[in-house]
Amino acid sequence: MAEAVTVRLSTTLVEMLERTAWQAEPHEACALLLGEAAGGVVTITQAVVTENVTEGNPETSFEIDPGMHILMQKAARAGGPQIVGVWHSHPNGVARPSDADKAQSVERGWVWLITAAKDGVVDHAAFRADPDDPHQLDSCTLEVTQG
Ligand SMILES: [Zn+2]
Repeated sequence: MAEAVTVRLSTTLVEMLERTAWQAEPHEACALLLGEAAGGVVTITQAVVTENVTEGNPETSFEIDPGMHILMQKAARAGGPQIVGVWHSHPNGVARPSDADKAQSVERGWVWLITAAKDGVVDHAAFRADPDDPHQLDSCTLEVTQG
């Protein structure tokens, strides 16, 4: 059983992600999440939106631009913020990982933040890739702080 994790981000960041989700509709939007993880709390300080470069159907799948991923990895190694996870939107309105998401989840401990956006209604949910089996995405507590 993986330890429970709280995912924290600001209202400003949430609003930005919502806008990005609506703009991409009917396609899925995606971003790398930067921040820090400490004591069971993952704080997301930044979301770097990238093109959805999926070779599948962009209405039901996504892939982070690998060039941006490498760039952020290099920045993290050079002392910049760490990559703590990935965000994407679900234009189908379902705020939980799809089977494709679970299959695609390979980074142990990454946060998977999902914004469901359909018919004017948005919903957010956070999950964490199990440190032992990253294909298992466990539900997290999501804390949105004023800011
Ligand atoms: Zn998904």
